[in-house]
Amino acid sequence: MFKKTCFSCGRNSYSSNNTIKWLCPYCNQDISSVGAVVAEGPLVNPDSKEPFTGKDPIKNKDVV
Ligand SMILES: [Zn+2]
Repeated sequence: MFKKTCFSCGRNSYSSNNTIKWLCPYCNQDISSVGAVVAEGPLVNPDSKEPFTGKDPIKNKDVV
């Protein structure tokens, strides 16, 4: 999720897509040129950055 701070009204807006035209939901200002920052919200679990493969590293070894 990305966050931008509107240069017109100073409020923060959030979007999951940083490639589309970004209008401030509060004052309708076009803030597409504002640099977006990655917002760490409650939807992001810091413990889930490494994907769980479901494989046991010991059993995953090649047995000759
Ligand atoms: Zn605004």
